[in-house]
Formats: sequence, structure tokens, C-alpha cells
Amino acid sequence: MVIQRISRFVAWANELARSHGLEAELIPEDPEGAITLRRFRRTIAWFIRRRPSGRIALGIQYGHLTAALADGYGGRSTSGMLQLLDLEQALATAETLTAAAERLTAGEGVSGPAVSRYLAAANEFEHTYPGGFLSKRQHKALIANPRLQVFDHPESFLTCNYDPHKALCKPSRGKAEAAAQRTPSQSRCQSNCPNISRTDTHMDLAAREIDQLQAEINDGLLPHPIRCRLEQRQQSLDALIEGHKAGRITSAEEYARV
Ligand code: SF4
Repeated sequence: MVIQRISRFVAWANELARSHGLEAELIPEDPEGAITLRRFRRTIAWFIRRRPSGRIALGIQYGHLTAALADGYGGRSTSGMLQLLDLEQALATAETLTAAAERLTAGEGVSGPAVSRYLAAANEFEHTYPGGFLSKRQHKALIANPRLQVFDHPESFLTCNYDPHKALCKPSRGKAEAAAQRTPSQSRCQSNCPNISRTDTHMDLAAREIDQLQAEINDGLLPHPIRCRLEQRQQSLDALIEGHKAGRITSAEEYARV
């Protein structure tokens, strides 16, 4: 039943794309055959998990779907749900660290109070998990390794090298229960947190936002208070970029001084 509905949805989406001449948006034939509910669920989970606060959104979303689909997930606290969350968490962390290791090898610079932890995490990941494919056992080991809890947060131009005992977004930091909190609250991120590192890639994004703000300012149509606010935002991004340039270090420089 669900398989047929998904097939009908694919046909409808393709028809819509064709009618608008959007050939690039067509959903291609799947070499693995029909899309089952299990595969559909995994695909949605992949996209949800990669948004800010995605772990929480995923838990809520799949908790709701449980009621609708009755597919064996009795609640968000059941082992099935937790396994899905953990798998997505491990995949997202592996992607972040793979990309970090590649960019560092290419000479990317990093700054911020957690720069050493960021470099060490990318280095450890690169040497512990070469090749790209992670087994179930490796996924579990990755999630359990406190040194590899690295969360990219490009919207805030930073990477969170999550140590629950230092996390300024966690009111429980410094208390015994802090260790149990395995993911940061990125929606409450504090710019002075000791878990922060920033990369050249983040600064490129900041520079792009400065240009976009300038284009809005140049329009000349903005009311004065809004124009002032955009200029303040530009100044704070400028300061971020200057701070990064001043404290920037590459992995080669880091390991040369050890
Ligand atoms: S405040 Fe920001 S950098 Fe610090 S732990 Fe929370 S999310 Fe990570």
C-alpha cells in the first residue's frame, strides 16, 4: 500500500517537473527497485538530521509517525528509535570529520578556543576510519568517542567541538548529569563558548553574507534603522573574520610545534 503511494507520488512529481520543463528535477528510476517504507524513512531521516537541531526534530517527527504508521516504533525511547537517531548522528559526524580532514590536508586554516581539539579530532578520525565506509560497530564506537563529537554549524560560522562540561548552551554544565547530554543545543549557541572553532570555509560564508548585506544597503530603499542594523551586522562579521585571520593556524603548523 505504502509502496504504491510512494510510486504514485514519484509519478506525480515527475509529471509536474515535466510540465514546467524542469528536467533536472525529475526523480530518476531507482536501480534498487521500489522504494519501501523502510528506505523512505531512512532517506527522510538523513535530511532531517542534517538541519540545525536535527536530532530533536527527528525524534519528534518519528515519534509522530509512529502513531500514524504503527510500524514497530513504540516510542521515541525504544531501542529502534534510538538506533535510528544514533545511526544518523554517526553518519553526520563522519561526514563532518571526513570533510574537515580533507580541507585541513588542503591547507585550510582554523581558529578559536577549541582549535586543537578540532585538529586532533580530524586527525584521529582520518587515521581510525580510513576509506569512508563505517560498519555498525564503528558507528557505535564513533558515537561513544568523546574526542570525536564535532558538529558543524555553518549558519553560525563555527564548528562545535562538543564537551558537555564546557558547553555554554547547557545549563547543567559542570554538574554530574552534564556527561549524559550527548548533543549540543545549537539553537542556544553562545559566541564565547570554549567549544568553538572556526575555519576558512566559515569565514568565506561570513564574507559572502557581508556582500549580500552591502547589496541591500546599496539599494538605498531601506529605512534608516534597518540600514543601521545591517551595518552593525557587517561590523560584527568583519570582526569575526579579522579575529580568525589573527588566530588562524593550519594542521601542519599545529603538528610542527608539538
Ligand atoms: S554553546 Fe555553541 S559551541 Fe558551545 S557547546 Fe553549545 S552549541 Fe557548541
